[in-house]
Amino acid sequence: MPGRIRPGGEGLHREDTELSGDMQSAVPAGSAPSSASSDPRTAWKAEFNPCIQCGMCGGACPLASAMEYTPRHSIYLLKEGLLDQVLKSNTLWLCVSCYNCTARCPSGLKITDVLFPALRDAAISAGHTLPAEFKKALDNTYRYGNSLGEGPRKRIEWTKGAGVPVPIIGQLQRPVEALWLVECYPSYHPRNQRQAQAMARVLHATGVDFAILGPEEHCVGDCERLSGEAGLFESLVEYNTSLFDKYEYNEIVTGDPHAFNSLTRIYPLATGRRYPVRHYVEFLAARMDALRPLLKNRIEAKVTYHDNCCLGRMCGMYESPRELLRAIPGISLVEMPFARENALCCGGGGGGMWLDTVIWQAAHERLSDRRIAHALSTGAEVLAVSCPFEASRFEDALKSTGNEGKMIVKDIIELLDESISAPGVKPA
Ligand code: SF4
Ligand code: SF4
Repeated sequence: MPGRIRPGGEGLHREDTELSGDMQSAVPAGSAPSSASSDPRTAWKAEFNPCIQCGMCGGACPLASAMEYTPRHSIYLLKEGLLDQVLKSNTLWLCVSCYNCTARCPSGLKITDVLFPALRDAAISAGHTLPAEFKKALDNTYRYGNSLGEGPRKRIEWTKGAGVPVPIIGQLQRPVEALWLVECYPSYHPRNQRQAQAMARVLHATGVDFAILGPEEHCVGDCERLSGEAGLFESLVEYNTSLFDKYEYNEIVTGDPHAFNSLTRIYPLATGRRYPVRHYVEFLAARMDALRPLLKNRIEAKVTYHDNCCLGRMCGMYESPRELLRAIPGISLVEMPFARENALCCGGGGGGMWLDTVIWQAAHERLSDRRIAHALSTGAEVLAVSCPFEASRFEDALKSTGNEGKMIVKDIIELLDESISAPGVKPA
């Protein structure tokens, strides 16, 4: 019998996403400074005093060569009292929150979670002109609860094409096993709606008692937090936690690694409470006994998997996605260069989805273009992903690099769905 979540207590025990001491400062910029400074808007600067100027961060950053100041140089300028110089540079708009710098910093500094959001927050507060698409996405989230600027009723339109019932928890009026956070892109973006529809069918086929929030759902806010909108993130946390407390369920499941990252690592810091949440790759890998007999249709294809930054580098989840792919009959899994903790980011995180123009102007390429070359080099016919941003980004990258038709991009959930209920994927 599903029971009510006891935040901070029972529920999932997550070794790989336990909040460690070094993540305690990963909170919205300005909201929990760790120094004694009286100005909360600049108190975060003291967190970077231990920087030894080794330059590992810049060496690891895939966009450092396009930045006017690398993270190391930015910290040097901050220590010299030259914050304005950094705020006027392109540096703060070229971070896509890939966590490469954070993973390699020998001083354990929170470059991704604290430095860049704080710089952006400072730029917003100082009235700097924001990149237009970036500003529009944040304005949309303020007004509509999603960066695409769509209304709440449209949030469930994708369910009409799912082919299976998709219950809304507010209408069910009973506890469920899994509260599925669909998130914004799978709810509204035509490419990502196919991922949501596949997820509904797979959950249905595996007998999971699930429900969605429907029109009540708002963005979890991970990209908004990393974009420097501390106030917006705080209001999203308040709204979402009130929704999570309103209903009864055993656990939260999501297909969005950014939501997973925020709910496991950041929401507990902001609220002092812990919610049991799993990304679907882990949720389904734990149900392999029920899933495997359903995977009847062979998919005869060589497949390579892209480790996204949130599930991979931040949460160490490398095996569950590969386990699901290996369970599909016919699939031959090959690894691409820079896999697992060394995976190159698709460029869509931390507001990167809304900074493509700025990044293109500075770097003359998108990271998804560079990453698709890694995938193509394996000779795979299918690039498998586990994030809503990646399906459309990599499909665009195939076109923009002149490789359209050479590879198919599929979310793992789509491949599972095809193995369960459709003829196998047809490689180009
Ligand atoms: S890797 Fe860490 S210690 Fe080294 S320069 Fe960058 S922020 Fe400073
Ligand atoms: S998070 Fe990634 S993109 Fe941002 S500064 Fe660090 S290495 Fe560069």
